[in-house]
Amino acid sequence: MTLRGRLTAAFLVVVLGPVLLGAFFVGTTMAAVDRGRSTERLGLAAATVRTSVDALCQQLRAAADAVALAADPAGRAVAARQVVSRGLAAGVVLADVTGQVRYATPGAPVQPWLDCSAAGPAPGPVRALGARVGLRDRAGADLGTVAAAQPVDPAFVARLAAVTGVAVTLFDDPTGADRVAHTTEAAGVRDAVLAAAGTVVGDRVTETADGRYVRRVGPAPGQPLPLVLSVPSEQPPGLYAALVGAVLLAALLAVLAAWRLARVTTRPLVELAGAVDRVAHGDLDTRVPVRSRDEIGRLASAFNRMTRETDSYVQALTSSRDQLRGHLAVLGDTLASTHDLQRILRLILHSAIAATGARAGAVLLVDGGGVLVGQCAEGLDGRWPGPEPDPPDASALRVPVGSGVVGAVAATGEARRGRAEASAPPTGEPRCETYVAVPFAAPGGPGGTARPGADPAGAEPALPAATLGVLALYDRLGADEFDDDDLVTLRTFAGHAAVAVDNVRVHEEAQRLSLTDPLTGLWNYRYLRESIRREVERASRFGRMLSVLALDLDRFKAINDTWGHAAGDAVLAEFARRVRGEIREVDLAFRQGGEEFVVLLPETDARGATIVAERLGAAVRDAPVTLDNPDGVAITVTVSVGIAVYPDHATTGQRVLDAADEALYAAKAAGRDTWRLAEPRPWPSAREIPVLAASVTPADGLPRAGAPVAPAEGDPARSDPRVARAAPGGASSGPHPPRQSRGR
Ligand code: GH3
Ligand code: MG
Ligand code: MG
Repeated sequence: MTLRGRLTAAFLVVVLGPVLLGAFFVGTTMAAVDRGRSTERLGLAAATVRTSVDALCQQLRAAADAVALAADPAGRAVAARQVVSRGLAAGVVLADVTGQVRYATPGAPVQPWLDCSAAGPAPGPVRALGARVGLRDRAGADLGTVAAAQPVDPAFVARLAAVTGVAVTLFDDPTGADRVAHTTEAAGVRDAVLAAAGTVVGDRVTETADGRYVRRVGPAPGQPLPLVLSVPSEQPPGLYAALVGAVLLAALLAVLAAWRLARVTTRPLVELAGAVDRVAHGDLDTRVPVRSRDEIGRLASAFNRMTRETDSYVQALTSSRDQLRGHLAVLGDTLASTHDLQRILRLILHSAIAATGARAGAVLLVDGGGVLVGQCAEGLDGRWPGPEPDPPDASALRVPVGSGVVGAVAATGEARRGRAEASAPPTGEPRCETYVAVPFAAPGGPGGTARPGADPAGAEPALPAATLGVLALYDRLGADEFDDDDLVTLRTFAGHAAVAVDNVRVHEEAQRLSLTDPLTGLWNYRYLRESIRREVERASRFGRMLSVLALDLDRFKAINDTWGHAAGDAVLAEFARRVRGEIREVDLAFRQGGEEFVVLLPETDARGATIVAERLGAAVRDAPVTLDNPDGVAITVTVSVGIAVYPDHATTGQRVLDAADEALYAAKAAGRDTWRLAEPRPWPSAREIPVLAASVTPADGLPRAGAPVAPAEGDPARSDPRVARAAPGGASSGPHPPRQSRGR
């Protein structure tokens, strides 16, 4: 249910409750008052009826007495006629002692008459009301009776109705209550009145369905007529309908008023809800109209203020993000385009300061003596630990690793942030109130690029492997300390710094070592020495094999002599290109010097090495080297290869190289353009031989170490003349059986 619905309902309850209660009260009060008044009127009418009937009876009794006063029957007859003619009675009857009528005035009402003194109901229909007196002579003897009567007819009933002001009904038989003698009741309501009269007892008043009040009067002593009186209700007709109508009207008005009121009340809320929704969808320009100064008006203006401030906050964030993006772009460009370490570190520091809102900062690198030395600094005016250097020189910052904040950060490799203690002893760090310091290490962790400045054998304090330096910021703008978000930001910049330092140093290292051969682009002799040591160490650590090929171009001197030194150089370059094309990415090719080359094949056994040697020989032999000169001379070149395998033939790098060289001489001796495998170590233990045999793949037509394999029947290689040259009898022969045959 909506707020508007609830407000409407509450208003209706408040308004309609009293209206309904009032209507009920008016209805019941009116009914009670009406009943009381009607009962009172019927009571008055009943008294009047009794008085009237009583007066009539007295009048009849007086008339009868007047007739009885006459002395003789004739006189009584005259008196009777006089009484009738004066209107004191409608008829007079004289009866003798036996009840026999002796005289009756003409036009007297039909007998029998209801006697005024009768107390009970009359047995038959009532035609007239009469009074009877005794007739006696002077001596007092009973002579009969004189009775005077008035008819009880519609006129009589109408007179009673006129006197009492109510409707009057006379019954024939007071017990039956259904035989109406005369009535002034209107025809429409008569039946209802008579039905009600049948149920009412004594002087009680009852009410009919159509709103009439009914009661009985008589028969009783002094009033022998069975009568029913009724009055209409004085309640205005349609009172209840009017009340219901009034209630309905009030309800309608209340509904309209409640709806309008709820609408007026909730409209600002609806507007506000819509505005909040638009803000939630990102429209921060939304404003709501402030229509009043009440609570809702205050809410609206608070909402407007909130969106305005959020908008400006978002704009500030956006511009700071754009700024940061700019810094990052500059940083990226700089990182990509230069090896100037100072410049890169200055830029990283500047960007970190801008991104976190620090006032100052410095980058320090660990030097060879276990001291952090400032490389660049910003905003340190007034914060230098000692006398201010002029001009400001970051290298004045010198903090031993392990001392102070940055020293501890470098020593533990864990970032720190917080508030500087004023009482702390000086450590050579900048003075500040708040700080955050993040270490940076060479990428790749402990296995990363070596740190040239750090001598592992030196007496350096416990320094986490590969920690290069510390990026520290001081005094955040505003009073707050640096928070975790700043720490996260700073770690990013420290990562950049680490990469930059590492890159620069690797670059310097490469420059220093000059590892490549300029003519062929292959690795040079110096790098061969380091590589063979490293690769043998790795193979030994992981229990793998390493094959070494020693290559020497055949009769190269003759090429020089025939085509010139430049042609010789071109042949060397082309030879190197072909070698590179034949080996895997993990293999390393070196120019040892002159026309002598070495190829290292990690994770390769003798069988694999012979396949490579074979392939290299073919790659050189199969296509003559065409010189890039107008003559377009094509020179056929061949190469001899010696193969040695770690650990089959030797256990150190130098010895494997020597073994490969020996095998190379064997290949030369065998007639060139072929390969030879080195002699096995002359002191194999009993245990090593099966290991050697097992360390090569099963025979599949290819040669294997440790066992000679005869060329298959029909092998085209058998008819190759070079096969004959490379056949048994080479360096492989000797105290041991030949180690291999042609690798085809
Ligand atoms: P083989 O190895 O088959 O026994 O005969 P070879 O002629 O190759 O023998 P040797 O090793 O005696 O000759 C090597 C020659 O290579 C000597 C030298 O003139 C030539 N040489 C060495 N370095 C270079 C170089 O950088 N460029 C050129 N063009 N020639 C070089
Ligand atoms: Mg040679
Ligand atoms: Mg040579």
